[in-house]
Amino acid sequence: MPQFEHHYFDRLTGFYTELQPTPLMGARLLYHSAPLAAELGLDPELFSAENTAYWSGEKLFDGMKPLAQVYSGHQFGVWAGQLGDGRGLLLGEQKLPDGRVMDWHLKGAGLTPYSRMGDGRAVLRSVIREFLASEALHHLGIPTTRALTIVTSNDPVYREQTERGAMLIRVAPSHIRFGHFEHFYYRKQPEQVKQLADYCIEHFWPQLTGKDDAYQLWFTEVVERTATLMAKWQSVGFAHGVMNTDNMSILGLTLDFGPYGFLDDYQPDFICNHTDNQGRYSFDNQPSVAYWNLHRLAQALSGLMSTEQLQTALAAYEPALMSEYGQLMRAKLGLFTQSKEDNNILTGLLSLMATEGRDYTRTFRLLSETRQNEAQSLLRDEFIDREAFDNWYQAYRQRLLEENVDDATRQAAMKQVNPRIILRNYLAQQAIEGAEKDDITALELLHQALQQPFSDDPRFDALAALPPDWGKHLEVSCSS
Ligand code: AMP
Ligand code: MG
Repeated sequence: MPQFEHHYFDRLTGFYTELQPTPLMGARLLYHSAPLAAELGLDPELFSAENTAYWSGEKLFDGMKPLAQVYSGHQFGVWAGQLGDGRGLLLGEQKLPDGRVMDWHLKGAGLTPYSRMGDGRAVLRSVIREFLASEALHHLGIPTTRALTIVTSNDPVYREQTERGAMLIRVAPSHIRFGHFEHFYYRKQPEQVKQLADYCIEHFWPQLTGKDDAYQLWFTEVVERTATLMAKWQSVGFAHGVMNTDNMSILGLTLDFGPYGFLDDYQPDFICNHTDNQGRYSFDNQPSVAYWNLHRLAQALSGLMSTEQLQTALAAYEPALMSEYGQLMRAKLGLFTQSKEDNNILTGLLSLMATEGRDYTRTFRLLSETRQNEAQSLLRDEFIDREAFDNWYQAYRQRLLEENVDDATRQAAMKQVNPRIILRNYLAQQAIEGAEKDDITALELLHQALQQPFSDDPRFDALAALPPDWGKHLEVSCSS
């Protein structure tokens, strides 16, 4: 049996309400991530039908002490006050054999004192979307919460239409958000802000404990992790969609998946959230929004550090972002060395892709087949403006030839960073439609494919294909 602790419960009294989950009617375990279960050292038997109660909040493992965390945040640039957690419970913290500690968080667990107008529930559609996205990002090497189990039920939950109530157990080293700090700052409780910062340092940055400038070093790390995360999202074409400060993880994890989207056609101003009329959270705004969010966090931490210290830490953002993004994109282009030409090569390709609406994932995957000694690229036929493409390709090829790397080596390296399979919206939609009828075939296959995004396995050919036209224009509901 997994071993649970409850540090948050013990150490952060006043930061939560103790609360038991409210069961769903006819709850059953629909699916789970077997690889994650293995990583967590969980016996496969725990996922048999008789053990559903552990995943639906009806039965707790020894040591669990469920609680709803309280936090606030800025939504769409505006201070929104207390928000959550309106439907998620921290069940306990699993102590792994290797010493790591993992929060188990049950989403859709029923009403809490922080539910406001909500029903405390999650619907199957959104639970599957979160499950798939977190698995997809994880296997692309992007820090994220993970998803362990999906429970479905016969409980009707009302959104734009009646849907099935569902629950998700997600797992992360911590679910502490920027909004936790803001909550106590705006309540004028500086002692609590300090307590929370000390808790984070002690648990997640123990190497900083006792240092004179521990807060500044810590905040700098938060800044850098956030910057790195943004670079990674941009490099794979992931749009989060709701980058409110309450959805920003203090650990730099991707957190809370709502109306997210992976780019199909490369469209820099892509907006995946249909309620985001101004495009505040459009794809290319993400790095600057994260920076804005870090300023809100800095404000909340202003009792712990001088303005100068906060500014020094914030100044680490841009270099960290640019350095990570540069590395990632150079790798996508198959460049092993660094040259001042690189930026032009990258922006040249991106601008061609944007003008012609080329598929982001497929373009880089095809580019991975480049043969430096051939005057024409395989990609040429993908572009309408051949002349513009040829001009770009000449410069690119010139750049490749300057490096002493053979095609096979470069191609292999590029295929490790340019995925063949990403979580396209329409693929998630097909998995959801099946699961709503208790058929998990599509969900299972997609989940397997997302675990091997760089593989050429022919079993996943259909999932690697370009999206059909209808699949590109799906309206994803923001309600979850
Ligand atoms: P989100 O925009 O999904 O990050 O949600 C913002 C806050 O609203 C979170 O703290 C949630 O706990 C809360 N919330 C979202 N949906 C519900 C719901 N159906 N019932 C209660 N609270 C909710
Ligand atoms: Mg949220």
